[in-house]
Amino acid sequence: EDSKFYPIILSQTEDQKTTSFIRGYKQFWPFLKPYWFMAVLGILLTIPVGALDAVIAAFLKPFMDNVMIEQQKSFADYVPLVIIGFTLVQGTFIYLSSIVNGYVGGKISLSIRTKLYKKLLTFETRFFDVNNSGSVIFRFFNDADQASAGLIANIKLFLTKFFSSVSLVCVLVYNSWQLTLVALGVLVFLILPLRIVRKRIKKIISRSVVGNTQLITLYNETTQGNRVIKAFGLSDLMFRQFKAKADFLFDIGIKLVRDTNWLSPVMHLVSSIGVAGVLYFGVQLILNGTITSGAFVSFLAALIMLYTPIKTIGNNFISVQQALLALDRIYELLDAKSFEDEANDKDKLVLPTIKDGIEFKDVHFSYTKEREILKGISFKVAMGKKIALVGNSGGGKTTVCSLIPRLYEVDSGSVLIDGHDVRDYTLDSLRSQIAVVFQDSFLFQGTIRHNITCAKPDATDEEIHEALKNSYLDEFVKGLPNGLDTVIGERGVSLSGGQKQRLSIARALIRNAPLVILDEATSALDNKSEKVVQKALDTLMKGRTTIVIAHRLSTIRDADTILVINDGLVVESGTHDELLAKNGVYAGLYMSQFKNKEQEERDE
Ligand code: ADP
Ligand code: MG
Repeated sequence: EDSKFYPIILSQTEDQKTTSFIRGYKQFWPFLKPYWFMAVLGILLTIPVGALDAVIAAFLKPFMDNVMIEQQKSFADYVPLVIIGFTLVQGTFIYLSSIVNGYVGGKISLSIRTKLYKKLLTFETRFFDVNNSGSVIFRFFNDADQASAGLIANIKLFLTKFFSSVSLVCVLVYNSWQLTLVALGVLVFLILPLRIVRKRIKKIISRSVVGNTQLITLYNETTQGNRVIKAFGLSDLMFRQFKAKADFLFDIGIKLVRDTNWLSPVMHLVSSIGVAGVLYFGVQLILNGTITSGAFVSFLAALIMLYTPIKTIGNNFISVQQALLALDRIYELLDAKSFEDEANDKDKLVLPTIKDGIEFKDVHFSYTKEREILKGISFKVAMGKKIALVGNSGGGKTTVCSLIPRLYEVDSGSVLIDGHDVRDYTLDSLRSQIAVVFQDSFLFQGTIRHNITCAKPDATDEEIHEALKNSYLDEFVKGLPNGLDTVIGERGVSLSGGQKQRLSIARALIRNAPLVILDEATSALDNKSEKVVQKALDTLMKGRTTIVIAHRLSTIRDADTILVINDGLVVESGTHDELLAKNGVYAGLYMSQFKNKEQEERDE
């Protein structure tokens, strides 16, 4: 068994598991449990609603026999009042029960969503590499509500209809047991259609989930990639993709309607047959004096009331099936394994401040089973030293860095900090020692202040200004009308590439961590500001251990060790002077950059 590549890919196709009714409710129970009292209250409040239906039906017998046949005027006067009174009482209960049920439903969606989000935060980077945003988002927005609403509505419907059905059946039996047999006997014919529909729904719905998640992913790309779409004239292409997916969803919707909605007419037919049978036999029972006309009318009214919920079972059945499948998708996320699960942090060491340094020991790593990226990397960084990683693009430098804060797990070998494998430390204590400036500086929606203080929530204004000063962003921020409280838009769209990079340097600075990782931290800067920011980085690196990935070799000349990583292997290592003297890969890289630079300077 390959423990590292355990499946964390969310199901996309028809391979979704089938869920039985009982298993579904078992899975639902943990969410329902904290609110069971309110749920029971909601159900209790619905009992009178059903019972009053039966009372009204039962009331028809004395009405018929006393008023219509024996012409008792005094009784007739009360009838309208009684009907309105009952309806008022019934309405009050309906209202109260919907408030309670709404509360329970809302609380349950909330707790599903909360649990999903907590889980989402524990997923390692690989989860986000392999799952598209749509299939995650769909679970939040559709599934949480659909599962809770569908299953609660079903419990409620079942129980209210259960109570009203029981009372209505009592009325039936009270009036005539013979007719009751006829009326209920026909219900046997409903079993087969329900089974057929259940199967169809499962298939169609799994396909509609795929359609929906693809569409959500497309919407995401359309907003996030709008610049590329416009600059490359991709509107038509995007629209065609959208149309294909939207049409697909429409077809599925129609199929769902076509393949399931015959259930209602079938239910209708079955109940009509029941009514027809009752009429046929009922007349004979009246004629031979077994039952009174009043009993017959009362029976018929109760029967029609009893059949009404049976007809709605058709629609309810579809939504319950949808809810069960939604719940299944929710559990797929909740049950997915992740090495960041809190439970995995038990019995781990708490990393105090790093003392000795970092060591890679024969590290092998691959993102996917098919391709090995790091093929045995070994090196050491002593505390307080600066190590530089250079080499061809795609060679594995970023990958090496992402193994230190454990964004990914190694295949074999180990990454050691102070002599212990990074896997032996709690994630919190490990990551709190590291400040990273990523190659693509991701910024959050919100203010500049938010983007800095997220790295140190208790930072004072002085610390923030210090960080801004050291990342050479203070002049820029001062010039903004709202200063630190300027909103920079989603992913920092309102900033230039260089400003974004400097803001993410400020974010790393304020963290004040003993280990600093800089992944091409100045790549988006022009020569002039790079020199300035380089000074900031030099301050940042002073007295700390730093791992620097540099695209411009001139910035790492002073590194204690330079590692040349090509295609997943360390091909050379040493100081700048040693490597130049060696006249190998590094010397070649350096000379070519040096020549280009001289050329540039001559051209200017
Ligand atoms: P460098 O930083 O040296 O340019 P990287 O470490 O980013 O190189 O990438 C090394 C190799 O790993 C590349 O061939 C790249 O295609 C692959 N790679 C990087 N990230 C991923 C990922 N998330 N999933 C799969 N392959 C990846
Ligand atoms: Mg890189």
